[in-house]
Amino acid sequence: MTGAARWSEELRSMVGGSVKVNEPLRDHTTLQIGGPVDVMVFPARPDDLVRVVRWCLDRRVPYSFLGFGSNVLAPDEGLEGVLLRTKPALDFIRFEGTRVVVGTGASVARLVAQAAARGLEGVEGLAGVPGSVGGALVMNAGTRMGEIGRSVVWVDLIDEAGRTRRLEAPELEYAYRSSRLQREPRWLVLQAELRLVPGDPSAIRRRVDEALQYRNRTQPLHLPSAGSVFKNPPGHAAGRLIEEAGCKGLRRGGAQVSEQHANWIVNTGGATAEDVLGLMIEVRQRVLQRSGIALEPEIRLLGPLRERWRRATAATA
Ligand SMILES: Cc1cc2nc3c(=O)[nH]c(=O)nc-3n(C[C@H](O)[C@H](O)[C@H](O)COP(=O)(O)OP(=O)(O)OC[C@H]3O[C@@H](n4cnc5c(N)ncnc54)[C@H](O)[C@@H]3O)c2cc1C
Repeated sequence: MTGAARWSEELRSMVGGSVKVNEPLRDHTTLQIGGPVDVMVFPARPDDLVRVVRWCLDRRVPYSFLGFGSNVLAPDEGLEGVLLRTKPALDFIRFEGTRVVVGTGASVARLVAQAAARGLEGVEGLAGVPGSVGGALVMNAGTRMGEIGRSVVWVDLIDEAGRTRRLEAPELEYAYRSSRLQREPRWLVLQAELRLVPGDPSAIRRRVDEALQYRNRTQPLHLPSAGSVFKNPPGHAAGRLIEEAGCKGLRRGGAQVSEQHANWIVNTGGATAEDVLGLMIEVRQRVLQRSGIALEPEIRLLGPLRERWRRATAATA
């Protein structure tokens, strides 16, 4: 029996939910890219998640987390170890007045819709952002209309030693598309409390609708992508820099710099992680040559891709 088959057998006997072996990551990422992960667990209840993390720590099995896969580039060769998905275990939203306690497996779209229906402001800036609340908390997802970090009161997580901890907002160091959670890949975020503000329900709904319409006009939503690939450097729009460097429409295999939005790389069919990574390196190089600005990825590079990016860009970091 292979290591993965043995792990999956043990995990099945101790947790609720499903446990899959050699699960293709392309089925769980919006770019539709990525090879098999040894074992993927979809725990049924929150305590199942905690048990899996502690089991991985005891056995020294590598582990990582996935929300809805809308901000990741997964390697063609797949991932080693155990990948934990936060849905369905942590898919809950509980409003108490102007506060909401939300599980990290809940969808951002549902949170935005439920807050709008209750006439609560604070998360409408996330309208149209795909993904889970967990991914949003880690990435400090948002738009010019606002980021999730500014509404966070606290988050509960399991740390690298398997202990549950509560961190208050100031400890999370929220900044543009950045948080302390990103620098702690062994932390599994379980739930968060958000503080919202009473507002006018019809005005909130109008802002949400306008945001969705704007996206439909300006973003290549008909092709698989992970949204913006690079962060906006201070004082600049990454898309503008990429366009000015002549990268719009640039191709590598099935990956292409979108004609519609230069900071998006789309999968036009059969793109590999190597195609996307190669294109990212080329775009960064061209922008650097033209403007002297080194773009930083916004999307998360999983497994060995992070090191490949680091090596390819080290000389000009
Ligand atoms: C069409 C499109 C449009 C987009 N537009 C926007 C936008 O306007 N603004 C914006 O900010 N982003 C945007 N994005 C990017 C993406 O939707 C966000 O970053 C989103 O918050 C990611 O959530 P996710 O659940 O998909 O995270 P994933 O991609 O699954 O994970 C992202 C990272 O978070 C980690 N993670 C996820 N959940 C947890 C958890 N519970 N505990 C610990 N770590 C966790 C993962 O390990 C990974 O490192 C867009 C993406 C697409 C495809």
